[in-house]
Amino acid sequence: MHTGNGHPHRSGHPGKHPAGSPKSGNGRAPYFPDFDEAPFLVIWETTQACALACKHCRAEAQPDRHPDELTTAEAKTMLEGIRRFGPIIFVFSGGDALERPDIVELTEFGTRLGLRMAITPATTPLCTRERLEELHAAGMSRLAVSLDGPNAAVHDEFRQVEGSFHHGLRILKAAREVGMSTQVNTVVARHNVNDFRVMADLLTELGIVFWEVFFLVPMGRARPEDVAGADAFERVFHHLYDLSKTVPFDIKATAAPQYARIVLQRKKAEMRKGTRDEASDILTDGAAHSLRDGIGRARGVNDGDGFLFVSHTGELFPSGFLPKAAGNVRTHDLVDVYRDSDLFVSLRDKNRLKGKCAVCEYRPVCSGSRARAFAVTGDPLEAEPYCAHVPGRWLEMVAAGEAQPVEEYFRERALAHGVPLPVTN
Ligand code: SF4
Repeated sequence: MHTGNGHPHRSGHPGKHPAGSPKSGNGRAPYFPDFDEAPFLVIWETTQACALACKHCRAEAQPDRHPDELTTAEAKTMLEGIRRFGPIIFVFSGGDALERPDIVELTEFGTRLGLRMAITPATTPLCTRERLEELHAAGMSRLAVSLDGPNAAVHDEFRQVEGSFHHGLRILKAAREVGMSTQVNTVVARHNVNDFRVMADLLTELGIVFWEVFFLVPMGRARPEDVAGADAFERVFHHLYDLSKTVPFDIKATAAPQYARIVLQRKKAEMRKGTRDEASDILTDGAAHSLRDGIGRARGVNDGDGFLFVSHTGELFPSGFLPKAAGNVRTHDLVDVYRDSDLFVSLRDKNRLKGKCAVCEYRPVCSGSRARAFAVTGDPLEAEPYCAHVPGRWLEMVAAGEAQPVEEYFRERALAHGVPLPVTN
């Protein structure tokens, strides 16, 4: 549920405007949108209630709704606040959003305000065709479901509920039939890193417009040992890049801004070989597929930078994977929190990054997952622990005795934060 901003860059080379130069301002690449004023999308964790008990669940979902969830009236006030950012994308997430009886009413309300509405229901029997018809009539543009493997055996084991894969396929089919565009979300973890070609074939058959691939962040129920590792991430990035040239849907890597580095590296290599004549339209291969429903995607979205997450009780987080609150919709103005809170401002300032990300030539387009840095080290401005790239400048600093080797650097910080695994590149 991400879209381009319509300003393809023309320089292509990440080193062309060095971070901190007058052209890069807060260190962001000049061809990326400026998210200081408004996020590209807001996700609301409508409820923690969910019939599933997924192994990696960020929300640590529970069978019942929390008594302190935002009420219908509070949710409407929140939607009005979000509309002050502009006609941006708003996503009902969870838990299972369909556990809330007011979800159709809130969809209608948000649509009337001019927000572009999307939903990610759980793959359970609760998501009936009738419910989908109501949601579509209320203005829901897109529906996304999770499929974490190419078959029931892989997916259901990961989701811990037999029949979840079947319901996912059923919901995608029904959503298309009632007129919504469809998206699939897939978590990359150790259990499925080798299934991506088969997954792509299945998704092609399903007629989706967007494939959002989530790279696991070790928080919620996800343990550090479930994360596939930097080298496995790198292999998946290359698969995704190859697939993005041929599949009839858009692909986005979430919690993995380093995919932008891979795209640039691959495009530059193709230019050198003469198989590509421009490297400028970073991350736009396939983007037209996801623009059909007006939702699309943006480049350069990162935690707190183009993105705002509201918890089921109204806390304002830079992302669902970075549980550090900067306010609450019950007590704070959400627009002020996004624009001016220390946490959000610091996350958008790439000049405040630490470790190898601070000296990386790809920092203007990447900057690493702030959520994963926080999960592993406790500091959201630390370097991304699961990126295989070691910048040349960092190697020079290590040789000069000014910096630690990467493995040592992360192991020390992870251990200090109580994360027992050595994080390796
Ligand atoms: S070192 Fe950091 S900024 Fe550079 S590519 Fe890796 S995650 Fe991105």
